[in-house]
Amino acid sequence: MFSITEFPLPFNESSLMPYMSDTTLQFHHGKHLATYIKNLNDLIVGTEYEAMPLYEIITKSAKDQNAKKIFNNAAQVFNHNFFFKCLTQNGGCTIPEIITSSFGSSETFINEFKTAATGIFGSGWAWLVKNNDKIQIITTLNADTPIAHDIKPLMTLDVWEHAYYLDYQNRRADFIDAFLNNLVNWDFVLEQIK
Ligand code: MN
Repeated sequence: MFSITEFPLPFNESSLMPYMSDTTLQFHHGKHLATYIKNLNDLIVGTEYEAMPLYEIITKSAKDQNAKKIFNNAAQVFNHNFFFKCLTQNGGCTIPEIITSSFGSSETFINEFKTAATGIFGSGWAWLVKNNDKIQIITTLNADTPIAHDIKPLMTLDVWEHAYYLDYQNRRADFIDAFLNNLVNWDFVLEQIK
C-alpha cells in the first residue's frame, strides 16, 4: 500500500545548537512532523488521495471542502520538510544578492521578514516566495502553504509555538533573529530560485 514515508532530518539534531536545541528538534521533527505523517497516511486510506504524490494531495485537497483534515496534515508534512531543509549549521550571515536586490537592501529584507514573522497572530509560517517571477515575503496561517495558491516557496520559518517555545519561550522575535543570523541555508534557497 502507498504511504507517505517519513522525511529524515537533513542534519544532526544537535548541530544547530545553541540556536535550535536537540530537544526542540526531537519534538518538532520526531513527534510533531511524525504525527502529521501518521495522520495523513491514516486519513488517505481508501480515498482518491491514497496513491497521489504529496504535492498533488495538497493542491487537490485545497479545493475539496470534504478533505480539510487531509489538506492540513499534507500541507504540514510539506511545510515541515521544506522548513528543515532551510536550516543549516553556520547558516544565515550573508544574504544572497539576488534576494537583497529584490528588496533594495539586506536591511530592508530583514526588516520586512521580521515584521511579517512577528506579526502572525497565532500559528503560521513566514515565507520568501517567487510569485509571478517576483521575489516576495508572504505569511500563511496554520497549515496553509504557498503551493496551494500556485506560489513557489523559496524559504520558510515555522512560527508555531512548538518551533521555538522550549528554546525561546514567548520570545518569538529572538527566534526569528537566530534564524536569520545563524540558521538559514541560503544554498538551499538559491537552488529553489533557479
Ligand atoms: Mn512545526
